[in-house]
Amino acid sequence: MTKAKVAISWNSSCGGCDESIVDLEEKILDIASKVEFVLWPCAMDFKYSDVESLADQEITAALINGGIQNTHQEHIARMLREKSKYVIAFGSCACMGGVPSLANLTNKQEIYNVSYLDSPTVVNPDKIVPLEECSVDGKKLTLPEMYQTLYKLDDIIEVDYYLPGCPPTAEMIADTLGALLSGELPEKGSVLASNKSLCGSCDRNDTKPDNISIKKIIRIHEIEADPDTCFLAQSVMCMGPATRDGCDYPCVRGNMPCTGCLGPVSGADQGAKMIATLGGILEGDDEKGAGVVLDGVVDPAGTFYRYSVSASFLGRKREEDV
Ligand code: SF4
Ligand code: SF4
Ligand code: SF4
Repeated sequence: MTKAKVAISWNSSCGGCDESIVDLEEKILDIASKVEFVLWPCAMDFKYSDVESLADQEITAALINGGIQNTHQEHIARMLREKSKYVIAFGSCACMGGVPSLANLTNKQEIYNVSYLDSPTVVNPDKIVPLEECSVDGKKLTLPEMYQTLYKLDDIIEVDYYLPGCPPTAEMIADTLGALLSGELPEKGSVLASNKSLCGSCDRNDTKPDNISIKKIIRIHEIEADPDTCFLAQSVMCMGPATRDGCDYPCVRGNMPCTGCLGPVSGADQGAKMIATLGGILEGDDEKGAGVVLDGVVDPAGTFYRYSVSASFLGRKREEDV
């Protein structure tokens, strides 16, 4: 039997999406019997040159995780696009920028300052930061050029399917691989998850009163949350109303509010949707009153757009304002 060739690749990401593949446990053996991995930098030692030598579209599917933030990542993404029949934006970083896209609220220099110079744990007396080109013992060394902006995958290449989640659950990955291998794929461009909001399937939805009145947002560590009552009814921020369903809400089942990792339903801006939801339930009838209620949201951009800055109305902060 000819096995389907599959490439898994990562860009600006944390490795959690790769880890979620391992969470398939014994199902991975079944998948491995049907696919031939041709690239998986996190787990296997393939060479990019081997992939480059494949014919165009010889790879059945490339699952690419992470946003694009440097020249090397862009080059590999373009190469995989050429070699693959289907490209899947794998995980919220590839779909929407993910947590790394919070970098779009600052700039490259500030990121270098924090990472290599100013953090209390950094010891760097010679103030060395990554250089795109340097010379060591007369030999030229180069590094990829880092971009000012982190791009979601479809800003750079055409994407066939989107599998959101930070990371997508093992069940979502199994369903995606199953659909790929059986050829039973939905319409090109589809998001491989529900297009309804998480609250609809959450088993606490019945405890969400029609008219909630929140005097102040409380952070989850400030209370002992009732495990059976909607978080919003307990004045705890839960992104469920503005988040796509499809994960089987593991966080809420673990008595932690949803932070929104599957992103918004199609066509919505996650932060705007959540702010509109809150607008109807917060007490405080003027700007000052609303400010008091929202004091518990210590990082508004990181709360409302934690996984989706690149795909949001924000996109990035104006560089001249950083
Ligand atoms: S989507 Fe989440 S788990 Fe996956 S690479 Fe990005 S940060 Fe990591
Ligand atoms: S707001 Fe959160 S806890 Fe409440 S129903 Fe929605 S997902 Fe469940
Ligand atoms: S409950 Fe929310 S944060 Fe948790 S996995 Fe689902 S979408 Fe992501």
